Amino acid sequence: MAINIPLTGTFRVTCEYKRKGNWSAGWHTGIDMVCDNDTIYGTCDGTVTKIGWDKSYGNYITVKAPDGKYHWFCHLSSVICKEGQKISRTTKIGVMGNTGNSTGKHLHFEIRNSSNKYADTISPADYMGIPNAVGSYDSDNYQINSTSNSSSNSSTGELKTLARNTNLRSAPTTSASKVLYLANTTLYILQAGVAQADGYTWDRVKIRVNGKEGYMINKNYK
Ligand SMILES: [Zn+2]
Repeated sequence: MAINIPLTGTFRVTCEYKRKGNWSAGWHTGIDMVCDNDTIYGTCDGTVTKIGWDKSYGNYITVKAPDGKYHWFCHLSSVICKEGQKISRTTKIGVMGNTGNSTGKHLHFEIRNSSNKYADTISPADYMGIPNAVGSYDSDNYQINSTSNSSSNSSTGELKTLARNTNLRSAPTTSASKVLYLANTTLYILQAGVAQADGYTWDRVKIRVNGKEGYMINKNYK
């Protein structure tokens, strides 16, 4: 398991990838995120190819990933890595800031294809395994299976999205041990209505990104 998110803990997506608007491309080429913890971590095992300044991007870092794509980290207040440095997902590379064309402290995270040209990008939300939507997320919920890059398969059940924060329980009762998953976490319904307990109907579910299985109250999905 690995994590492809440059932030730790709870963070918020404030502008999704490909939103239409007043950018040179006519759409947003990255994703904007904010977090109480300012530290920016590497998102792959890669090499820092450039540390620069740009009137739009402010202080930025580019990292070349093993697949040839370039990860851009922009609007930083400071950079704590060097050009040529090899990094991993646990390397602290910079600090979130408000430099360049930015209206508040945030990270603009962008992934360019191997051309490394503006607007030749892939979805950073897909790379991170999070929904491409404004909302609050917890990085702990979005661990990526680094070998297959996806834990889904056709034998699992109906894909649902949590409408609100919900506990995954070890047994279908509110007294069982629990792990909290935040709204917008995606999961599969393995078996609907497996039990009635404590006034609730319970489903057996599997969390999409980490494959953990357990029980949830069945009315909390979108
Ligand atoms: Zn942005």
